[in-house]
Amino acid sequence: NGFAAFGLAQPLLRAIESLGFTQPTPVQRESIPAAMKGGDWMVSAQTGSGKTAAFLLPTINILLSEANTKLNTFLGPRILVLCPTRELAAQVAADAINIVRHARGVRIATVVGGMPFGKQIAALKGASVVIATPGRLLDLANRRQIRLDHVASLIVDEADRMLDLGFSEDLEAIHKLCEARSQTLMFSATFAPRIMQLAARLMNEPGRLEL
Ligand code: AMP
Repeated sequence: NGFAAFGLAQPLLRAIESLGFTQPTPVQRESIPAAMKGGDWMVSAQTGSGKTAAFLLPTINILLSEANTKLNTFLGPRILVLCPTRELAAQVAADAINIVRHARGVRIATVVGGMPFGKQIAALKGASVVIATPGRLLDLANRRQIRLDHVASLIVDEADRMLDLGFSEDLEAIHKLCEARSQTLMFSATFAPRIMQLAARLMNEPGRLEL
């Protein structure tokens, strides 16, 4: 299997096998080893390129490898994925559930607008990976229903659409709440100047992967 060389944890390799992935896509080949090393990265990737696994696999691998993987979940999520739309968030969450299928104790929660608060708040208990749209996430953070100060990996998916939808300020506010953040990954269809400006506000000397 073409994923074996990345050195991913066994439960992830089993999930890759269950999903029937045999070879990494170009964006996965570049971004999995880069993100596993740490640091901030901006990656150009289109829908359908395999970008979701390209950010979920390395960040969840880091989560699994953390010293005495006690998923100390009452401290809040360790991985936060921000998506511009509910539909994309639902898709990313479905992929994340498949990827953690064999990883004990890793729970996924989805936080999106237009749904009742109660169920989402209940699902956040014990979730180490949260997939969210920015507005609802900030709303929950302001209501003290989620803490973000233990997020280690922050991922911004479809950054160009985030800007189209006016989420720039929300992204900066969320970024500020992720005080313990050690890595930010930004995925975008283009590296237009406005994307680079957002990147400069959310990341420290990001590496660039152009595909
Ligand atoms: P994405 O760009 O993340 O939305 O992925 C597009 C589709 O490709 C999804 O249905 C994935 O399940 C699938 N996919 C992702 N990576 C691979 C891979 N390495 N081999 C085969 N299919 C993949």
